[in-house]
Amino acid sequence: MAETPQSPFDHLTRRAVLGGAGVGLLTGVLGGAWEAAEAATLHGKLPKQVDCVVVGGGISGLVAARHIRYHQQKSVLVLEARDRVGGRVLNHKLPNGSVIESGGAFIGPTQNHIAALAKQLGVQTFKEYNDGQSVSVSKGQRQLYTGTVPPDPAILLDAALVQLRIDQMAAELDVSQPWAHPNAKTWDSQTLGSWLRANTLNHDVVNLILAWTQPGFGADVDELSLLFVLWYVACSGDEKNKGTFERNSNTADGAQESRFIGGSQLIPLRMAATLHNKVALNAPVHRIAQRDGYCFVHSARGVVRAKRVIVACPPPMVLGIDWHPQLPAPRRTLLEQMPMGDLMKCDAVYKTPFWRKAGMNGFGISDAGAVRASFDNSPPDGKVGVLLAFVGGSTWRTYGTMSVANRRKHVLEGFAAMFGDEALHPIEYVEHNWPHEKWTGGAPVAFMGPNTLSTYGPWIRKPHGRVHWAGTETSTYWTGYMDGAVRAGHRAAAEAGLHL
Ligand SMILES: Cc1cc2nc3c(=O)[nH]c(=O)nc-3n(C[C@H](O)[C@H](O)[C@H](O)COP(=O)(O)OP(=O)(O)OC[C@H]3O[C@@H](n4cnc5c(N)ncnc54)[C@H](O)[C@@H]3O)c2cc1C
Repeated sequence: MAETPQSPFDHLTRRAVLGGAGVGLLTGVLGGAWEAAEAATLHGKLPKQVDCVVVGGGISGLVAARHIRYHQQKSVLVLEARDRVGGRVLNHKLPNGSVIESGGAFIGPTQNHIAALAKQLGVQTFKEYNDGQSVSVSKGQRQLYTGTVPPDPAILLDAALVQLRIDQMAAELDVSQPWAHPNAKTWDSQTLGSWLRANTLNHDVVNLILAWTQPGFGADVDELSLLFVLWYVACSGDEKNKGTFERNSNTADGAQESRFIGGSQLIPLRMAATLHNKVALNAPVHRIAQRDGYCFVHSARGVVRAKRVIVACPPPMVLGIDWHPQLPAPRRTLLEQMPMGDLMKCDAVYKTPFWRKAGMNGFGISDAGAVRASFDNSPPDGKVGVLLAFVGGSTWRTYGTMSVANRRKHVLEGFAAMFGDEALHPIEYVEHNWPHEKWTGGAPVAFMGPNTLSTYGPWIRKPHGRVHWAGTETSTYWTGYMDGAVRAGHRAAAEAGLHL
C-alpha cells in the first residue's frame, strides 16, 4: 500500500495537533519533556473499549496513535510495555546537563517524515561535526583521509566498483515489493559476504563493508542476504530520489548528517504528551484474540476491546504475543527469520573534543578491536567532547558480552588507536547494551538472512484480520530508521482508519 507522502497533520494547526492540551502543557512539553510525557500518560484504569489499540509506544506506534486520534478523530489507546516511551530512541543525560543519544540519533536528506514531525514538535537539528579528516586503522597502520573511503590503492578500485554495482542493482528494485524482481531469488540465495568475495579482487574490501554493516544492521556481511541489503539501500531515499549506498552511509549529504538538539527521544516524549491520557505505560501486551467482530487485547494492566489493533513493536516481540487465531504460518516464519541485530553504543566523554584541535572529525574505521566504527557524538555546544563507538555483529559477540570494565578498556584502546592516547582518559564512560533489552532484543533493526525476503517478504504488511502492522521494519523507505518508523505509523493508521 502507498504511504502517506505528507504528514497528515499538515493541514492542522499546532494547537489542534496538541489535542487541546493547551498552552500549559505545551510549556511543560518544551521544558521538562520527561515529566510532561509521564504526567500525560494514563495512570488509572484502562478504558474497557476504544476504536483502536496501538501496541508499542515507540515512534511508529505514537505516530499511528496521533493519526487515529487527530486525523481520523477516533478513540485510541497505546499500550507500552516499558515504563517510558521511545523504544529504540533513548536520551542519556551527562553530568553537565548535556544530552546524548543511546539509541537512534542521526537524520539526513530525504528523511522528510521524521524531519517534519520533529519540526512540528519544536525539536531542532544540528549538523553532525564533520570538519577535518577521518581516520582509518588497517593492519595496525593509522591513516588520516578525507572523503568517504580511505585512499588505499589496494582496495580503492574494488570499493568504487562494489558501491557502483550495489547502487545499480538496488535501483532496479521496487521498494514496496523487492521480491518481485526477476533476480530476487538469485540475489536472496547468497549473502552479501559471498557476493563481495565473488566480485572483488582484494577481499580487504569486506573489512571496509563490515564497518558499515556492523553499525547499520548489527550484523556481519555473512549474516545478511544480498537481496535484503540491496533493498535496504533502495529504501535509502524517497519517492523522488532513488536510494543509494552513499546516502545511507555518508555523514555529509547522508543519513548521518544531523542530530536533534536535546536528543531524539524528545520526539516520542513530546508526542506522548500531546496524546494526553492515551498512552498506558507498564502495559506489555501478551495476548490478542479476535472474535465476534472485535479484538481483545490482553495486557498487564487489563483487557481492552477494540475494532482494530495496530502492532508497532519489533518483529521478535510480535512472536511473544499469544495470538488467537494464530498468525498465518508464512507470517510466523517471516518473523522467526527476522532477528534483531547485535549492537551497542559505547560513549567516552572528555573535557573537550580534543581530536578536533588535531584536525580530525571523530569519524573512524578499523579492521580490528572493539571500535570498528566511531563518530563524534558531542553535544551541539561542544562543551564536552564525546566519542561514540558502535560495537556490532561479531564485534559485539566478542566485546558486548564482556564485563563492563573489560569492555571499557578495549573501547578506550580502540579510540586511542584512532585519535591518540588522550582518548584513554575520559571523564565518563557510558554504554547501552541493546541486545540485553527485554522489549527490543537487539539493535538497530531486525535483519534478514538468505531466502527470507524473496519467500516470506510479501507478508510483511499483510493485515492479520483486524490487526495492522506498523514499526520501522514495515516501511518501504528508510526501513530500519526513525523516518521509516514515522512512515509506517501513518500507513498502518490510514489502513486501520478505513475500518473505524
Ligand atoms: C543503537 C541504535 C542506533 C540507531 N541509530 C539510528 C540512527 O542514527 N538514525 C535512525 O534513523 N535510526 C536509528 N536507529 C533505529 C531507530 O531507532 C528505529 O528505527 C526506530 O526508533 C524504531 O521505531 P519503532 O517505533 O518502529 O520501534 P521501537 O522503537 O522498537 O518501538 C517499539 C515499542 O514497542 C514496545 N513493545 C515491545 N513489545 C511490546 C509488547 N508486547 N507490548 C507492548 N509494547 C511492546 C517497546 O517497548 C517499544 O517501546 C538506531 C537504533 C538503535 C537501537
